[in-house]
Amino acid sequence: MGFGGIKRNSADAHFSKVIRMAATINGELAPWHCQLCEKDYSERNRQGIQCSHFIGRGINGLHGTYGWAVRYCPLNALSLCSSCHGFVESHPVFHTNLWREIYGSIYGRDSSDSALNDLLRRSQCKSRAQYAHANQRAISTHYLAESRRLEQEIEKHEAGKEADYAIYSYIRKPHLSDT
Ligand SMILES: [Zn+2]
Repeated sequence: MGFGGIKRNSADAHFSKVIRMAATINGELAPWHCQLCEKDYSERNRQGIQCSHFIGRGINGLHGTYGWAVRYCPLNALSLCSSCHGFVESHPVFHTNLWREIYGSIYGRDSSDSALNDLLRRSQCKSRAQYAHANQRAISTHYLAESRRLEQEIEKHEAGKEADYAIYSYIRKPHLSDT
């Protein structure tokens, strides 16, 4: 659902990298893989795999939805090869079902759609959009640090050690903060 001509900043670039490097398929770590056709790009041209936004970055204020509110939300992004990216953008119902399969519950479809409703609610938060717009540099720094942390965690995982390769968002969940 992206529009042409959206300016990419360094926060977008670092965010895109973490989405692709720490992609999962059926809950298993699959770095630089397409989450739809499952093709592995780790040994190919990594430009062939893209960060796809579920709610497009260009949607600002349309029906109360703000692209900026979830522009850097890991749950709003999928790692897709360019042909699968093009396919989901022209097939919105399929796109929604793919999102549900990956994020709808822990590793499968959540028929209550509570996870999707949470994402949609966040996308309508104007103050979240304003925060992201005003804090692009801090968000860029967060995802650069996150990509460095993930590199180490992915190496640990590949060595058979315990690793935390979940992608942490720049906004902490309220129930985890300040405890
Ligand atoms: Zn693909």
